[in-house]
Amino acid sequence: MIPISTLNGKKVALFGLGGSGFATARALVAGGADVMAWDDNPDSVAKAAAEGIAVADLRTIDWNGLSVFVLSPGVPLTHPKPHWTVDLAHAAGVEIIGDVELFVRERRAHAPDCPFIAITGTNGKSTTTALIAHILQSSGRDTQLGGNIGTAVLTLDPPKAGRFYVVECSSYQIDLAPTLNPSAGILLNLTPDHLDRHGTMQHYADIKERLVAGSDVAVVGVDDSHSSLIADRIERAGGKVRRISRRHALADGLYAEGSRILRASNGAANEIADLDGIQTLRGGHNAQNAAAAIAACLAVGVSEYEIRAGLKSFPGLKHRMQPVGKRGRVVFVNDSKATNADAAAPALSSYENIYWIAGGLPKEGGITSLAPLFPRIAKAYLIGEAAPAFAATLGDQVPYEISGTLERAVAHAAADADRDERESAAVMLSPACASFDQYKNFEVRGDAFVSHVAAIDGVTMLIGSATGGK
Ligand code: ADP
Repeated sequence: MIPISTLNGKKVALFGLGGSGFATARALVAGGADVMAWDDNPDSVAKAAAEGIAVADLRTIDWNGLSVFVLSPGVPLTHPKPHWTVDLAHAAGVEIIGDVELFVRERRAHAPDCPFIAITGTNGKSTTTALIAHILQSSGRDTQLGGNIGTAVLTLDPPKAGRFYVVECSSYQIDLAPTLNPSAGILLNLTPDHLDRHGTMQHYADIKERLVAGSDVAVVGVDDSHSSLIADRIERAGGKVRRISRRHALADGLYAEGSRILRASNGAANEIADLDGIQTLRGGHNAQNAAAAIAACLAVGVSEYEIRAGLKSFPGLKHRMQPVGKRGRVVFVNDSKATNADAAAPALSSYENIYWIAGGLPKEGGITSLAPLFPRIAKAYLIGEAAPAFAATLGDQVPYEISGTLERAVAHAAADADRDERESAAVMLSPACASFDQYKNFEVRGDAFVSHVAAIDGVTMLIGSATGGK
């Protein structure tokens, strides 16, 4: 835990007692702050009180004596409308911050030079965060991994010289971290997402920009127009920028050419890594993630040799295009996290001869947007409520069967893939649907896929225990 020494003896109000809210309350108490915690859910309040955290209905307290108001990132700060506590804080002129801001203040107070890499973007955050942490860890560095990826940042070990922090930040966390100043900040990409909580694309982009604008080195994926403008703006303001592209060569920065990652400087480029054969980093989207990870690692002093070794041994994240088993030429891939068509596209683009298990609770639009990828699919195995609609979309373009259950789909797909005489084939769960008609969540669905794969005769499992969080 990171006790919050910077608020020792100060009055602090906190709202939001979910997982990270609890961790924040504990860290504040441990550092000696006078905390008043609250939540709209009476059970959470009771749980905090039972643990000895002081609770108070924030409608009834005197806001004027507060040093800060700590808000959980899950609670609306601006959109669709400010939470009632936010209105009260504004009325009293009290600063509103979140757990990431508390962390950066502790780091500044106790170990301002300890390397801190922060990662944001619309897609690929967790993969890039886990990859960087893996490169650092496997090179023997004292590494702390947390933030939006699943481990609340204040549950990590306290900042000290030589300790490395790798922190995934959602826009909500950045919005609540006014002095965020990582040694290396990554903005992977920007596409419309979560606009319900941010209002407009411009507001969403402005928040994300703050993470890189405050960084000693700003690593920015420049393949979308918003991010590209952000890179230009930071450079014009005198910031150090490392551009990343998965789509085209750059005169300065890191870019992908097929599976190769090249580093260019003043127009001259040299290869820094080749992702060919690294199963956990297949596909153009992962080239973007890897190039950004490489740039950040270089910025905090990791050698090229250490980076290459770390890339090669990256175990990947659970449920995200994760190769989980192999039988002969057939690889079994768990992409259960793909809960809509957009999210399934990278996995379908990254393999050929796909025996595709899809379906579940359908989302608007179905799989029509995936039509350009249909030629990569050898056969589809449809499950859950979406099966009839998906069957109608596939029509006579792709052979399919309505398998109904995941278990039957895995068994049939494995048998068909086995008969495929081509060089390689993939049995892949990339459902393009939510899981709730048949499973509690996408994690449980992915775990079920893994156990069905493990039950197939002659399969060699490629995974041991769980990797990664979220
Ligand atoms: P996030 O943490 O931002 O949600 P993840 O690393 O968990 O991202 O990846 C989730 C899914 O997003 C992946 O399974 C893949 O389909 C897609 N994805 C990953 N990286 C990228 C990227 N750089 N660009 C576009 N899509 C990506």
